[in-house]
Amino acid sequence: MHVLVVEDEPKLLENLIIGLGHYGFEVTGASDGVGLDAALVEKKIDVIVLDLGLPGEDGVEIAQRIRAQSTIGLIIVTSRGLIEDRIIGYEAGADLYFVKPIDIGELAAAIRSVERRLAQSPGSPWQLEIESSSLITPGKIRVRLNSQEISVLKLLLSKIGEDIGRTELLAVLGLPDDISFYSRLEVLISRLRTKVVKSDPAFPLPIQTRYSRGYAFVTESGA
Ligand code: CA
Repeated sequence: MHVLVVEDEPKLLENLIIGLGHYGFEVTGASDGVGLDAALVEKKIDVIVLDLGLPGEDGVEIAQRIRAQSTIGLIIVTSRGLIEDRIIGYEAGADLYFVKPIDIGELAAAIRSVERRLAQSPGSPWQLEIESSSLITPGKIRVRLNSQEISVLKLLLSKIGEDIGRTELLAVLGLPDDISFYSRLEVLISRLRTKVVKSDPAFPLPIQTRYSRGYAFVTESGA
């Protein structure tokens, strides 16, 4: 579990890094939004602990921006303790909101709780989130899908590792099994691959083309 702590007060940042380290987390520190962006590119972060009062981009804006494109765990730890502030924090997308000072043991428990929410679907690192019409990549990036893409991915993800014939794929799209529709299927899969790789270059969509048969969603673990 890798936690990214964003805190501009050096002593507090150091205490959080050391304290969470004692609870068994791998911890990276950043002092502002720029440092956070750099860490997100370099490392696979599971949960972000975010201060709101930061130099440069404010923590609330950072939270909104992160949440717009990712389901990553987000815990706000701030000195802003008013109910209005808490509401703003939750509306910006925080999973949990704590007012300083926070007990390090409580923060560690909160991080584990958020992580359990993220690990709700143990079958595959790829998850479909139907409510928001999105695919969640293993990097926790949310990729918006159209209804056809959802139908196809739903079928492929329901039978991971299996070859799914064109007939079956065309059927979920409401199209007849006719050679004239094969190219539409190819275009749809190809656009889907492009869309995912643009959103999360670290995790190309593992859909394999089965020559003259159809497609298969194949993950490394086979799970
Ligand atoms: Ca601060």
